[in-house]
Amino acid sequence: MSFIVAIDGPAGTGKGAVTKILAEKLGLVNIDTGATYRCVALEVLNKKISLEQKDEIIEISKNIKIELKNENREQIVLLNGKDVTSEIRSKEVTQIVSQVSSIKEVRLNMVDLQRKLAKNKNVIMEGRDITTYVFPNADVKIYLDASLDERVKRRYKQNAEKGIHISLEELKKSMNERDENDKNKEIGSLMIAHDAVYIDTSNLSINEVCNKIGKIIKDKLEDIEYTKKIYAIRPETKWKKFVRRIVKTILNALYHIFYRIKIEGEIPKEGACIVCANHLNYIDAAAIVLFNKRKVMFVARETLFYSRILNWLAHLFDIIPIKRGKQDMEAMKRSLKVLSSGQVLGIFPEGTRKGLAKNAKIGNGAAYMALRTGTKVVPVGISGSFKPFTKVYIRYGEPIVFEKQKNPDKEQLQFATNQIMETIIMLTNKKD
Ligand code: C5P
Repeated sequence: MSFIVAIDGPAGTGKGAVTKILAEKLGLVNIDTGATYRCVALEVLNKKISLEQKDEIIEISKNIKIELKNENREQIVLLNGKDVTSEIRSKEVTQIVSQVSSIKEVRLNMVDLQRKLAKNKNVIMEGRDITTYVFPNADVKIYLDASLDERVKRRYKQNAEKGIHISLEELKKSMNERDENDKNKEIGSLMIAHDAVYIDTSNLSINEVCNKIGKIIKDKLEDIEYTKKIYAIRPETKWKKFVRRIVKTILNALYHIFYRIKIEGEIPKEGACIVCANHLNYIDAAAIVLFNKRKVMFVARETLFYSRILNWLAHLFDIIPIKRGKQDMEAMKRSLKVLSSGQVLGIFPEGTRKGLAKNAKIGNGAAYMALRTGTKVVPVGISGSFKPFTKVYIRYGEPIVFEKQKNPDKEQLQFATNQIMETIIMLTNKKD
């Protein structure tokens, strides 16, 4: 597993400086992807190849050996074994690098190399297409921007420090051209990823930018740690079973003190099934879990796990966490595993409490799993005011059997969802 911080943006936005500082501070491997294109451009110049000789340039990009090393806190770029760290920043290389990097095959070869350089590492990568093309699923995505004038000023100062003298006008013209070229590439063009955090650095110091990005990275790392805890599977030990039995008995008794439970029908005694119920409040799922001999493993939104006590209970009863509004593959995998092992899965198709009343979009998840696996669905209607000492009705309907479909289409899913929901509604409306 690797952790990837991707930073994109035009030249002069401080990507290089920020990446270097954060890499050091957070112990991430710094991968300057621009350097890889610059190496190809340098080799083009060294071999005196013109920009029209595309095949030769592609050949260079295929066979070139680029290494990025860290020595004395500086990144060293080796091209075919030779240190070219300074050479690749020359005016001549800068002039042609954007055109060189526009060649599709060159890009494909470099992206391949960049992905290899990042493999199994925790990295911070900067470039033009990292958030959109190289690592579209990066953990942290940042787009750095600044006004052209500000970027020109910065680059001028940077150059002066290195003893490079290019006039402000010349710099502005070349930076503008480079930006335009970078934004219009056939693949991997410079653009803002829809899920990237946009930071305008025009009026920010390097330190301020680092602090902002550092905070985003820290939050993401905490989030990953938290998710790990939530998704951790507690093995089914004898002790866990024992504690579950005790907790179940206590909660069962409390439930009976507060409500007059009326149960009609039941879950099939064996075999896999999906229990689908309407969702009124936090305690209706408990009713299904507590008043069944069979273990019902509900799918519940991950925010439920944020509370310590609920997190403990959820792990005790093997509740499956799911991220709302996203395709949560892990939740799907776990749910399918419950069914393939012949157990009972619980789903609230409304997704949220009182979803029907709130006009929430009914999810197709239960229908999808039922159709994919050919598992029967047990509809459950829960009704009652849930005021203390009133009646709570839990009505199990006849299992709905769906024919197994390898790839159910939208219409089939919608049809099955409607059938499930209509049965649930009918059960909730049933009179005494
Ligand atoms: O970041 P740097 O100025 O070193 O990048 C040099 C050039 O390499 C950019 O102007 C751009 O044309 C190209 N590049 C790219 N994709 C990247 C990084 C750089 O096309 N991911």
